[in-house]
Amino acid sequence: MNLSSDQYDVIIAGQGAAAFAAALYAARYQMRAVVIGDTFGGETAIGGEIENYPGFESIDGFDLMMNMKRQVEKYGIPIVDGRVEGISMDQECFEATTTRGVYQGTTVILAVGRERRKLGLPHEEEWTGRGVSYCATCDAPLYRGKVAAVVGGGSAAVEGAVLLGKYATKTYIIYRGQAFTRPEPVSVRLMEESPTVEMLLETSVTELVGDDGLGLKSIVLDRPHDGSKELTLDGLFIEIGADPRVELPRQLGVELTEESEVAVDKLMRTNVPGVFAAGDLTNGSGHLKQTITAAAQGAIAATSAYEYASEHHNACDLHAVGYEVA
Ligand SMILES: Cc1cc2nc3c(=O)[nH]c(=O)nc-3n(C[C@H](O)[C@H](O)[C@H](O)COP(=O)(O)OP(=O)(O)OC[C@H]3O[C@@H](n4cnc5c(N)ncnc54)[C@H](O)[C@@H]3O)c2cc1C
Repeated sequence: MNLSSDQYDVIIAGQGAAAFAAALYAARYQMRAVVIGDTFGGETAIGGEIENYPGFESIDGFDLMMNMKRQVEKYGIPIVDGRVEGISMDQECFEATTTRGVYQGTTVILAVGRERRKLGLPHEEEWTGRGVSYCATCDAPLYRGKVAAVVGGGSAAVEGAVLLGKYATKTYIIYRGQAFTRPEPVSVRLMEESPTVEMLLETSVTELVGDDGLGLKSIVLDRPHDGSKELTLDGLFIEIGADPRVELPRQLGVELTEESEVAVDKLMRTNVPGVFAAGDLTNGSGHLKQTITAAAQGAIAATSAYEYASEHHNACDLHAVGYEVA
């Protein structure tokens, strides 16, 4: 049987740790796989220094993801820089419409991660990159000698404040809650000990102030700080969490949890036969959304996809074991 270039045993959507690990395992099962993702490396690649991925005492997230990508490429798996815009199913054959063409597959692994939450204030979008940022780990060095603020009360916010505290002359962390109970205690202690970080609790940001040319110049708070509700600063880091990207799962009729995560079983199967999911998109590792858990889920998803494809090898006129390992 001949395979045309756009037909696969497994279509892997995403280009993060979950996707690359799935691709590696799919390659080892000699599946014909394709990885389609719109941003190389996902969150890990912009996460800065990673110190909790076994085997690496410390590694830049970008480098870790480059290692994963090279390992996949070694097996000849195509990695397509593109966005999956839609997936449909016709008689057990999946069809992914992407910015780089149409791909058919016997199985699908969804590994598209989560989208950062926004404050929803006017100008937030237009001043992103001009004073507004969603990744303290990525942009903190740009604020050397400047004044910055972080909004949020979770790990990313607290770790971001600690990091900014090393560069900025002054860093505010603005949190609507009464105390930082969610992040690791060690991070909270580091933040409390930082001489340049000031905590503004039970406080919210209500307005972004600036101009079209220069971007953000100050923010307005819902309660005064040092006698004024307006806080002059150079940068605002919005670290208020992320929502699973559920558009593709929804198109396929995949069941979601109450927290809008893709519901998977321990084999990373969704409720739709042939559709598997892995990484931060899913409820597969509870609240532990990390590179290691995403990679582990990718490996399990590929194993399940292999087993499924072996049994449904006619779904797209394909066979499950379809190419030579390079
Ligand atoms: C600032 C920061 C620091 C972090 N630090 C650490 C750390 O030190 N250690 C650790 O273990 N974890 C860390 N994490 C968490 C870790 O990065 C994530 O758990 C991990 O990236 C999840 O991997 P994933 O593959 O599920 O999703 P992601 O990495 O988010 O990858 C999702 C991929 O899907 C792509 N995509 C989205 N929509 C589509 C579409 N429609 N079509 C095609 N592709 C699409 C995205 O572009 C991306 O490539 C950090 C996260 C952040 C934000």
